[in-house]
Amino acid sequence: ADDADAGAGEGSACGSGRRLARFRVGAGAAFNSLGVRLSSEGLSGLEFACGIPGTLGGAIVMNAGAHGQETAAVVESVEVVMPDGQMRTLSADKGELVWGYRKSVFQRGGRFEDAAVAAATLRLAHDAGAREMQLAYAAQRKASQPVTARSCGCIFRNPGEGAPSAGALIDRAGLKGTRVGGVVVSTKHANFLVNEGGASASDLRSLIEKVKATVRDEYGHELREEVLYIPADDADNQV
Ligand SMILES: Cc1cc2nc3c(=O)[nH]c(=O)nc-3n(C[C@H](O)[C@H](O)[C@H](O)COP(=O)(O)OP(=O)(O)OC[C@H]3O[C@@H](n4cnc5c(N)ncnc54)[C@H](O)[C@@H]3O)c2cc1C
Repeated sequence: ADDADAGAGEGSACGSGRRLARFRVGAGAAFNSLGVRLSSEGLSGLEFACGIPGTLGGAIVMNAGAHGQETAAVVESVEVVMPDGQMRTLSADKGELVWGYRKSVFQRGGRFEDAAVAAATLRLAHDAGAREMQLAYAAQRKASQPVTARSCGCIFRNPGEGAPSAGALIDRAGLKGTRVGGVVVSTKHANFLVNEGGASASDLRSLIEKVKATVRDEYGHELREEVLYIPADDADNQV
């Protein structure tokens, strides 16, 4: 890690004029632990990662985010292995890393969809309040989400600014508690579909379709999945 001064007008996602710390992290690092560790060291930017399972590589590919923060904001560069075995370093400053809501150039149809993410250089701002913020986010997550249940996290993308969240639409459509086989719409947070035991992939798929159809009929809104299907189905994985 090395410190740098963002300097006025640099336009860093971490905030101009704040002291920054730079870390090179392997793609296999546990994202949840990274968020806890960095905020415990007084570094801000990944406080939201606490509670998100998976790896840094997966979080970069998905541009994971929560509480108004997202992975893209702290990524300075990404080291990738290309299909021909060559290593490349892709840089945000050179415009090689284009991000959107839960979207990156590493997803299907993206410029680097065939690249394997090996490591990333992250840039975080020194902030004495980082740990407190991370703990507050963790408490909010625990209070509002079924964190101990078996789920994929949020199934559907939020419709966008000004519109009700996907969870609110599903809740208002009266779908909390709706079940197909072993999968049920969480009564705690309607955007979570929970495996209560013995659920199959087709149970989950059927419940997703049922939720989409009900919300479409009630509100005329077409919910779109945030989760990706494996094996990939292009029609389903459009983001
Ligand atoms: C309980 C729960 C809570 C969650 N909460 C949130 C949340 O608050 N916000 C949010 O945004 N997401 C949330 N998620 C989803 C989360 O972002 C993803 O599950 C996670 O970040 C994906 O990381 P992973 O390592 O598990 O990747 P995987 O799920 O294994 O992979 C995801 C995609 O990335 C690709 N991929 C993974 N690693 C690499 C790599 N190194 N190089 C190239 N491609 C790669 C895979 O091929 C796949 O297409 C939640 C999920 C769960 C289960």
